[in-house]
Amino acid sequence: MGKKVIITGVPGVGKTTVVNEALKKLREEGIEYQSINFGTFMFDVAVKDNVVKDRDQMRTLDRAVQKQLQQRAGQAIARVPGNVLIDTHASVKTPKGYMAGLPEWVLKEILPDIIVLVETDDDQILMRRMTDETRSRDKEGAKSIAEHQQFNRSIAAAYAMVTGCTVKIVTNADFLLERAGQELADVLR
Ligand code: AMP
Ligand code: MG
Repeated sequence: MGKKVIITGVPGVGKTTVVNEALKKLREEGIEYQSINFGTFMFDVAVKDNVVKDRDQMRTLDRAVQKQLQQRAGQAIARVPGNVLIDTHASVKTPKGYMAGLPEWVLKEILPDIIVLVETDDDQILMRRMTDETRSRDKEGAKSIAEHQQFNRSIAAAYAMVTGCTVKIVTNADFLLERAGQELADVLR
């Protein structure tokens, strides 16, 4: 049986970067994980359905449409065999409030062993978003980023209750990517 690990964190915290760092370390030890991006699965379906042009538009779609895309992505991802690392969000900030990234029907399909929360200081996230030209990141203040990070901790606790998974918090502080990668690699081994 492969391990299923879900990696979460607010947009701009550097999830993808930490994942790449950790997987590079593990590959050197001969440990393989398939890295999957939940948003990409949703986006591929959304593009086929012709409902968006850009992945950052998905979180503003009608809630029912987002849920449907989410469910289809969850089902497809649950079928991937082996060690799988799923890059996603504990909660998605929508215009109508926080939406669970892993509602019960998605969580019970995937049945993760571990949920990782990648976090850092709110003002560091703010700076990273401002300097990321490749994405349409939400423009929000440090206080609202703090609220989102707090909400993610709470909802991760609920996910642990439903599945019996563990929750690991990894800090991705400025200039300490190496340490974050090591911490993530340690839980994936
Ligand atoms: P990302 O590239 O990780 O920022 O994801 C792009 C977009 O995919 C997000 O802004 C969300 O709209 C969507 N998304 C990713 N994971 C989930 C999820 N678990 N549930 C709902 N939407 C998600
Ligand atoms: Mg990412």
